[in-house]
Amino acid sequence: MSAATIDLPATPTPSRIWTPKRVLVTRSAADLPHTAEILRRCDAAGVGDVTMLANDRLTGLRGETERETYARSKTTLAVVVAPPSQLKPQPIPPSADWRIDLAKGCPAHCQYCYLAGSLSGPPVTRVYANLDDVLAPIATHAGRGTITSGTQARGHEGTTFELSCYTDPLGIEHVTGSLAEAVRRVGAGRYGDDVSLRFTTKFDDVAELAGLDHRRRSRVRFSVNAPDLARRFDGGTAPLAGRLSALRTLAQAGYPVGLTIAPVMAYAGWQAGYGDLLDQVGTAVAGVPDLDLTAEIITHRFTPASKDVLLGWYPQTKLEMDEDVRTQKRSKFGGVKYVYPRATMAEMRAWFTTELPSRLPAAPLLYWT
Ligand code: SF4
Repeated sequence: MSAATIDLPATPTPSRIWTPKRVLVTRSAADLPHTAEILRRCDAAGVGDVTMLANDRLTGLRGETERETYARSKTTLAVVVAPPSQLKPQPIPPSADWRIDLAKGCPAHCQYCYLAGSLSGPPVTRVYANLDDVLAPIATHAGRGTITSGTQARGHEGTTFELSCYTDPLGIEHVTGSLAEAVRRVGAGRYGDDVSLRFTTKFDDVAELAGLDHRRRSRVRFSVNAPDLARRFDGGTAPLAGRLSALRTLAQAGYPVGLTIAPVMAYAGWQAGYGDLLDQVGTAVAGVPDLDLTAEIITHRFTPASKDVLLGWYPQTKLEMDEDVRTQKRSKFGGVKYVYPRATMAEMRAWFTTELPSRLPAAPLLYWT
């Protein structure tokens, strides 16, 4: 082996790869270079149904029933151009300085999905073909921001850009390639040396990422939950064991990694469930050299709009969304969300702030919300 070759661990076989049944390409996206890469990947993945639209309106998503519309949308990838209004990075506390979106929408079926209340219309996944425009603000916003940039606690991360606010970027990577391109460019310093990417995922197809020259400038967090909750509510994602195996693979490949423990739920026996999760993570990262592991914890919440949409998508769900056992919280813009009552929050927070450092001493808690 030459000295320049990176000695990568064997990459485990991914347990879940999403392949769309059909791809729609809008007129504006048709001739962009990244669209050619997306179509190349779709072809390699065996997607035969590709429609080049005559304009920028997505058609053919509506079925006879809401159920059909959901099913059609979740199996469709739309290649579109992000409009200028969506290219301006937004602050995204407490995760990162800025949010940038490679795509909007996700093909998975998590019964609590936080996208339900924030994206309107049929739940199709739209990937942005104007990738150069999407990534350009990393350069213009370097050195700006209040969450990590210049802070005592997280200043070493540089200016951070969160890629997973409106999608699971790894879940669609097999047919888009957007994430690999972003990781590669940021690794090469194309947007400056003091910037970093971060994203969270419930998928486990990490073979391509593991081989990239990332220069430790991209933190990959795996979204995990107590095993019985992940099994019950995370539809269409990689099982927990696959995510933890992927976490180990990327940590061994030198990536900063992390846990997004979400959404934390106060169900009967939650202490045992989350204890099991933390212990499984401990086993997964045992012996990884230079491990850089963080934790972020997000408790379950819902809004009237998200509850409405989720009950339409998953009418049989056993997910607790009962306003009567929750506390109403108002945002500064007047929006309402339902969170756990103060005493429950305090009990869960106390448990995690004791058990996380005790079971996973390598994983500092970045935030609890
Ligand atoms: Fe929603 Fe994330 Fe599940 Fe996708 S993986 S359906 S974005 S919660």
